[in-house]
Formats: sequence, C-alpha cells, structure tokens
Amino acid sequence: MPIVVRNPIVEMNGDEMTRVIWGLVKERLVLPFLQVELVPFDLHVKVRDETDDQITVDAAQAIARYGVGVKCATITPNAERVREYGLKKQWPSPNGTIRAALDGTVFRKPILARNVLPMVRSWAKPIVVARHAYGDIYKNVELAIPGPGKAELLYTPDDGRAPTRQVVHTFDGPGVVMGMHNLDRSIRSFAKACIAYALSEKMDIWFAAKDTISKTYHARFRDIFQEEVDGHRGELDAAGVSYFYTLIDDAVARVMRHEGGILWACTNYDGDVMSDMIAAGFGSLGLMTSVLVSPSGVFEYEAAHGTVQKHYYRHLKGEATSTNSTATIFAWTGALARRGELDGTLEVVAFAHRLERAVLETIEAGTMTGDLARIAEPAPERAASTEEFVDAVAGRIK
Ligand code: NAP
Ligand code: MG
Repeated sequence: MPIVVRNPIVEMNGDEMTRVIWGLVKERLVLPFLQVELVPFDLHVKVRDETDDQITVDAAQAIARYGVGVKCATITPNAERVREYGLKKQWPSPNGTIRAALDGTVFRKPILARNVLPMVRSWAKPIVVARHAYGDIYKNVELAIPGPGKAELLYTPDDGRAPTRQVVHTFDGPGVVMGMHNLDRSIRSFAKACIAYALSEKMDIWFAAKDTISKTYHARFRDIFQEEVDGHRGELDAAGVSYFYTLIDDAVARVMRHEGGILWACTNYDGDVMSDMIAAGFGSLGLMTSVLVSPSGVFEYEAAHGTVQKHYYRHLKGEATSTNSTATIFAWTGALARRGELDGTLEVVAFAHRLERAVLETIEAGTMTGDLARIAEPAPERAASTEEFVDAVAGRIK
C-alpha cells in the first residue's frame, strides 16, 4: 500500500548528470513508495530555450501556488553552453529567476555522516549558510567603458523632487562600471526568514557584511537585521538563540575555528561563495542540501551542487559514473517532509525521515560514491557507481 501524499508537489527537472540522478531517485526511491501528484516542469536548457524561459517563470508561479517544490540542478548558460546546445541566448540562472519571484532566502545545510569527517577539525555540527537571495550583483547592470568620460549614479524621485547624482568615477581610459541595488523589504524578509529558521532549529545566528567600507549599502543590511533581531528579542531569548554581528572577514576567520551548530546569514554574493567553501569543508558538494524559503512560507528544495557536467560527459561516453545522489535525495525528502507537515500527514513525514536514514545507513555501512570514498574513514574497498548507490538505498527502505 503506497503512502498517500495529500497535496501536489511541484517537480522541476533539470540538466546533465543530475537529470540522470533525478530519474533514478524518482523511479526507485520515491514513486514505488508514495502515491503523489507531481506538477512537472521540465527546466532542461533546451526547453527553457524553446519557451523563451517562460517555463521557469511558470514553475516559480506554481511553487508559490502549491507551497512546496523540488528542483533538479540546471545549467546556467554561458557562451560555451550557447554553442553546445545551440541556444538563442544566455538565459538567466533559473535559480535566480525563482529566487527573485519568491523573494526567498536560501538555507544550505550539510548532511553529516559518521564516517565522513569534516576537513576542518573543529566542525562537529552543521554550519548552515543562509544566502540572501535578492539583488546585489545578481540583479546588476554593467557597462563597459570604452574610453575617457564620467560615470555617475543618478536617482530621479517619482514625486518630482530634484534628482540626486554622484560621480562613480571619472575615467581617463577604458574600464568597467557596475550598478547594483537592494530593497529594504527584501533585506527585512531575509532577516525574518533567518530568525524563523534559527528559532525552529535552535541555532545561533551570525550575520556579517562589510559595513566599514560600504557605509550606506552594507550598513543598511546591518541595521535592518538588528531591528528585526530587536523586534524578536523575547522569542530569541526564550529559545536561547543569540545574535552576533561582525565583519565578513572576521566571520570567515572565526568560522574556521568554530565547532558549528550555527546559522551563518550571508549577503547574496558571500552566501554563493561561502556555501561552496562550507560544502567542500564538510566533505562533498554531494552532501549539501539547499532550501529556498519565501517570507510567505513557500519552500523549494534542491541539492546545492550543479549539474556535475564532467561526470555527465563520461556517462554519455558509456563509462561508469560514481556521482553522489545524497543531496538530491535529501531535496526530495525535504519537500516530502514539508508537504506532510503542511498536510498533517505524519506518515509522509515519517517516510521522508526513513529515506534519509536509509541514505545515511548506506553510507555508514561503507557503500558510497567516489567523492565520499576518497575521504571516508575507514575508506571503503571500492566506490559504488551512481546506480549502485541508489539501489543500495532502495534496498534499505524495503
Ligand atoms: P558542479 O556541477 O557542482 O560540479 C563541480 C564538481 O564538484 C564536479 O565536477 C565534481 O567533482 C564535484 N561534484 C559536485 N556534485 C557532485 C556529486 N553530486 N557527486 C560527486 N561529485 C560532485 O559544478 P560545475 O561542474 O561547475 O557546473 C556544472 C553546471 O551546473 C554549470 O552549467 C552551472 O551553471 C550549473 N550549476 C547549477 C546549479 C543549480 O542549479 N543549483 C548550481 C551550480 C552550478 P569531480 O569532477 O572532481 O568528481
Ligand atoms: Mg556558488
């Protein structure tokens, strides 16, 4: 008797090796055990190209409507990808489009297995990175400056008041200039999402920026965060959750000596970069999950890694691959557990936890893909193939 998932989950397929994994996970670990309605969106790069990226916009709207989504990694096309797939243009990052549509915050949490020790000896508990998912360089405008001239920032108020102008730089030769922005309301919902996450996980919050250099832009982040923390002081104190603000470079240095168990809130670019560093430090990108939380309480789950392009080319040549599906499986379990919580179906939540345990038990019993086999202690005799690992997990759920 399959377990019934009461309401639909938005399912977004993707590209390359993660698309291969997606099929395996869905067919062997999800569909045999659950009766679930999936609302499918194929975000394969060719489909995005054929629909002029409308499919991504539609997917984002569907996540907002249904409340829970699960997404496969997707190619963000660069010039090389445009040639490889014969695309009309360099379509924007689907994650960027979805984040912007939902105004969400991304939380990245490492998965800890007992036999995969973090590279950093002090890390005993997960370090969760929260990435502010709006604006900054991800919504920038850039100009190539061909030669001498003046670049300015110009703000023209809608209400007819006098414009404000500032010289960015007076160029004496070629260069580049960039304009970026953020919104008080987005920074505020970021802070709110971090506080909500920290309260539910009972994790201390760290936030860092570079407000000594950026006295208006970064300082705005610091101030809004502080306001939200002050506004939630009672709840934070009751839960024993502390808040710590410091400079980003100080935070980076402290994190390397910390035991973990903290929520590290980062501005958009810092979160992009630091989450990859933290993921690698905890073992493998294949052990990092990611969830986008919107201020309205919509959740989208995915693996934090990309499409694992190099493995895919090997797969296309017919060679055996050993790609870790753990983070992809945890994206599914995250979405299922959330769906079950929203629907009040405890058996769905229990299945999600059973699947997570099956994954960890498989790894801890010594069946793991190459990325973990290289760093696990004790080292397994051999690495499992992509498919063998999924089948070993399936064997444990049954
Ligand atoms: P990647 O897919 O994250 O892979 C980089 C390397 O990390 C791999 O070559 C592999 O190392 C290792 N790795 C990552 N995930 C792994 C897994 N599950 N199991 C085993 N090893 C894993 O990054 P990329 O190759 O730089 O990017 C490929 C494409 O992904 C790009 O087109 C990019 O746009 C896209 N991307 C998408 C997302 C997203 O949708 N969320 C995020 C990032 C990148 P070895 O080769 O050493 O085995
Ligand atoms: Mg990154």
